[in-house]
Formats: sequence, structure tokens, C-alpha cells
Amino acid sequence: PIDPSKDSGVRTVKGACFSRVQQQPLVNPKFVAVSEPALALIGLSADDVLRDPLGPEYLSGSKLMPGSEPAAHCYCGHQFGNFAGQLGDGAASYLGEVKAPADQSVDLLNENPCGRWEIQVKGAGLTPFSRQADGRKVLRSSIREFLCSEAMFALGVPTTRAGSLVTSDLRVTRDIFYDGRPRQERCSVVLRIAPSFIRFGSFEIFKPMDELTGRQGPSVGRNDIRTQLLDYVIETFYPEIQQNHADRAERNAAFFREVTVRTAKMVALWQCVGFVHGVLNTDNMSIVGVTLDYGPFGFMDRFDPDFVSNNSDNSGRYSYQAQPAVCRWNLARLAEALGPELRPQSRQAVLDEYLPLYNGFYLGNMRKKLGLLRKEEPEDETLVTDLLQTMHNTGADFTNTFRSLSQMSCPLGEETQEEEEAALGCSVDLLLEQCSSLEELKEANKPTMDHRELVMVLSLAQSNPALFEMLADKASVSKQLERLARLKELVDTNPEDLKAKQREDWTRWVKQYRKRLAQECDGQSDPQEVEEERVRTMDSVNPRVVLRNYIAQNVIEAAEAGDYSEVQRILKVLENPFSAQPGLEQPGGGAEGQVRNEGGAE
Ligand code: AMP
Ligand code: MG
Ligand code: MG
Repeated sequence: PIDPSKDSGVRTVKGACFSRVQQQPLVNPKFVAVSEPALALIGLSADDVLRDPLGPEYLSGSKLMPGSEPAAHCYCGHQFGNFAGQLGDGAASYLGEVKAPADQSVDLLNENPCGRWEIQVKGAGLTPFSRQADGRKVLRSSIREFLCSEAMFALGVPTTRAGSLVTSDLRVTRDIFYDGRPRQERCSVVLRIAPSFIRFGSFEIFKPMDELTGRQGPSVGRNDIRTQLLDYVIETFYPEIQQNHADRAERNAAFFREVTVRTAKMVALWQCVGFVHGVLNTDNMSIVGVTLDYGPFGFMDRFDPDFVSNNSDNSGRYSYQAQPAVCRWNLARLAEALGPELRPQSRQAVLDEYLPLYNGFYLGNMRKKLGLLRKEEPEDETLVTDLLQTMHNTGADFTNTFRSLSQMSCPLGEETQEEEEAALGCSVDLLLEQCSSLEELKEANKPTMDHRELVMVLSLAQSNPALFEMLADKASVSKQLERLARLKELVDTNPEDLKAKQREDWTRWVKQYRKRLAQECDGQSDPQEVEEERVRTMDSVNPRVVLRNYIAQNVIEAAEAGDYSEVQRILKVLENPFSAQPGLEQPGGGAEGQVRNEGGAE
């Protein structure tokens, strides 16, 4: 084993993808929170763990669990579109695998057919791959990862899990300034649980020279290791594919297709809960199709297709609406990394399937969110697009708007004209409650670019359009111009006109929606039953609560001041996102909404 505290060199491991490592103990580790259902995956009772004086030691990697052989995983990745070479894992390490308890639910075993769970500690100190960093994580980022992992699971989105969050008296300096001085923050460790933490980037260590950057993976040419890693992944996590394909090339194609299907499903679910990952680099893409590595993620408040959650993503590469295409781009990088293991024609055929697959999953989810359960009509897609466009125009809150749809009554086709108009009015009133005021909309549409830059770009766009076309980040500049145009319109609008306009927009959409809903009841024997099923389904897919940024921020501030009770309280709330939640207000849109998160400083 390597003792990284003595081994000062940062290593490039050429012949291996895991290296033995020893965790560096925390000082006075203590629990901030534990997740009962996540710990149950590995056969631990939350009560027992909390009662055990050594609980925080073991679950933070400060003490070695019996049988554990910790290792750090070496991987590469494309970061923001460029191959970055070897970059991970400098902060998380593998502790081992735990057999799933015999009574584990069928659903969970379907999700994880190998019947065992990998456990990892994130933030347990230096590994051979820590480069210039310290392998530590602070309370802030650990709370976000812990809460969001469990929140996503409860939302029905495939994800790595978080069993516990431990903090300590050991401190590190992070580059966030507070009172003019760098901040000392508490080292904290999240225990992560998943079938596997292997990533697309795990295969990129075999990558030969990258055309753009000239870099190559540290294990280039080591086809023996690539073969072992690929065989291990397929045999362990895709046993059906292994069993059903005697031919290796066909097996590998089936595997790549299944990763593509799972990735498309995952991102379709993200889009439907307004989740933005923030750092969709290939090293943050799971080979088993689960959401991985929670950093500067965000849930949208006000709907904006260009919403960017990561403060350092200046070009909007990982914006809300970019996510589906970025996932396809990442799949193409995985295919490349598989090299000769994947025939070019299989690679292309699968990649060509991605978009139709994604669209199918997305529309299927959206139909449920809108309560369109009995029929599939060609105009459903337009109904969804128009809903989102109206939400964008009126600055409506994403989560609350969807949740409010089930409160609207379904037309039975027997309404008088007055009754129909009254029902329409009620629905529109509900939706108008989720919209932004004029001041909020102005705030939301302020250009994010410095005004001097903007003036330069504007004059360039007018005086020399040909030159403007050649700007490398033309797309993001164009977005700024669009925002400016919207802002100009808003500045010239008065609040009453805006309200009237919003009412008009929503009335148009609700008319369309009610017409479509009427078709759901059409010819059904019991409209009451249809209606009840519709409401039940909608309320089981449209959450009442998501981990909004301000909620995470409040929890973090309390925890940093020594009060950990909020972490546990919010965890409980997020474990039941679809049920009524007294005591947790979820205002949409407001001034504190739409905050971007710091990218690097963890
Ligand atoms: P991320 O952008 O968070 O996915 O991080 C990319 C890689 O940077 C990770 O795989 C880690 O290997 C490394 N890294 C992030 N934070 C740290 C840290 N505090 N110490 C050492 N390495 C880190
Ligand atoms: Mg990462
Ligand atoms: Mg990170």
C-alpha cells in the first residue's frame, strides 16, 4: 500500500487503473446526518451506526473496516469539451464491496443485478492522484452531495447514494474569502454507495493521442487492461448481455447500446424535474447510467432553457437545454475510448438511436406530468413545447407549475359555456400564481456579461457582422443579445400590461390543454375514475419539493454555525418529495432564485 502522506509524488500510473491507498484519519469525526434507506442497502441500521462511538470513524474511512482494501481509481476525462488526460480520482476512494442483505427489494436488485454495493469515501485525504490538491472536501460541498443524492433517489432518478455525512475538527483552507481572509473549513466525508463508480472516463485512460490537445491517456496501448476492465464491467453489471452474446463484438455493441439507453433515460428524467448537473464532463458520466458527482448542480426555479447552474460555465456548455445533446457527445467519447472493442458501424448505429430514444423517454415522462395517460396524440409534443414556452415567457416556476396542473379540473364535455369559462379562469389563476412579476423578470433577463464587453460586442455585431460571425463564443454572445432584447421589451412594459399579457398567454395554453384532457375521458365508462387516476399519477411524478439552491444554502449556513439538525430535517422532507410538506415553503421565482454555484472550490 502507498502511504500518500509520505509519498509526495503525484503519479501517472501506466499499467493499472486502481492503486492501493490509505485514508488519512479525520480529527474528532462526528455525524452530521445519516440516510436510513441508503445505509440499509449495505445492511446497516442507522440507529446502530449512530449509537456506535466508532460509527463516524468507520464511515469516514478514518478507521479501516474489517476486510476493506481501499484503493484509488485512476481515470481520465474530457472537461468542457477538451481531453484533459489523467485527472481522477484524487478525492474519492474505494473501500470495498458489501453483499446486499438477503431481504433487499426486487426493485433494488433489478437496478443492481450483481447483488453487492460498492462503498466509497469522498474527501478522505490524499491519493496518488490528488495532483496539487489535498483530497479533502468541505462541509458545504458534502452537504450538497449528501442531500442531493438522496433527493434524486426519492424523485425516481437513477443516482449514486449517500449513506452518511461526517464532519470533523480538521480544517482546510479554501479559496473563498470571508472578512477579507481565506476561509478555514471543516473537512467532511460523504460515504457513497452505488453498484459501481466506474465512469466513461475510466475507459479514457486507454486513449491514444487526442487530436485537439495532443494528450494521451496514461495507459495507452494497454489493451490487456482495457479488455479486463470491459469484461469486468459487462460480466458484473450487465450479466444478461454477457449471457446472451457468445460473439464478443456483438456483446460489446449490446453493452454500448444499453449504456446509451440508460443514459438517455437518466437525462430525460433530469429534464423533467428541472435538474442541471453543472459539470457533465465524461469523468462524471457513470458506466451504469446513474447520476454521479454532485458539485455545482442546480434545480431550476423560474423556467429558463438556458439556465446554467455552474458559475464557471461561461459558455453555457452544460445549460439545461444542452444536457441531452451533451450526453450524446459524451457517449461518442466513450465509444472512441472503447477503441477496437467496438466496431465503427455499431458505434454509429447506436449513436444514431440516441436522439429518438431520448425523445421517447422525455415525451413519455412529460405525458405523465401532464396527466395524458390514456391516449397518445400527435399534438402532445406541441402541448409540452407550448407549456415550456409559456413558462419561459411568464417566468413561471418549473416545479410549482407542474405540481399545480393536477389541481385543474378535467372537462367532462357537459359543461355549459359559463361553466367552461369559469373552469378556464380558475386554471389560469392557478398558473398566474407561479409567474414572475415585472421586476423579477427584469432581474432574470439582465445580461450576465460585463457591460463594457457587451458594448463592444454590440458595436461589433452592428458594424461588422462578418467578423461577429467568426467569434468563437458567438452562441453565448447571441444569448446575451437575446436577453438584452427581452429586457428592452420589459423596460418598455408597465406592470398591468404584463399581467394582461401573462393571462392571455396562459389562457391560450389552458384552452389547448383542456381540449386535450377532454379526450382522456372520451368514451371512458367512469370519468370519475379516470380523473382520480390522472391526479394520482400526476402527483406521483410532479414533486412538491426539490432541493432548491436557497434551501441547500440555509442548511449549509446552519451547519457551518454548528447546527446539524437542519440537514436531517431537510433530508426527511426530500425523502418524500411528492407528499404534502407542512413547514417547508417553496416560493418560486423570487429574488433568491436562480443562483449559480461555485464550480471548483470544494
Ligand atoms: P470534479 O470536477 O468535481 O468532477 O473533479 C474532477 C477530479 O478532480 C476528481 O475526479 C478528483 O480526482 C479531482 N479533485 C476534485 N477535488 C479534489 C480535491 N479536493 N483533492 C484532490 N483531487 C480533487
Ligand atoms: Mg467528478
Ligand atoms: Mg466535484
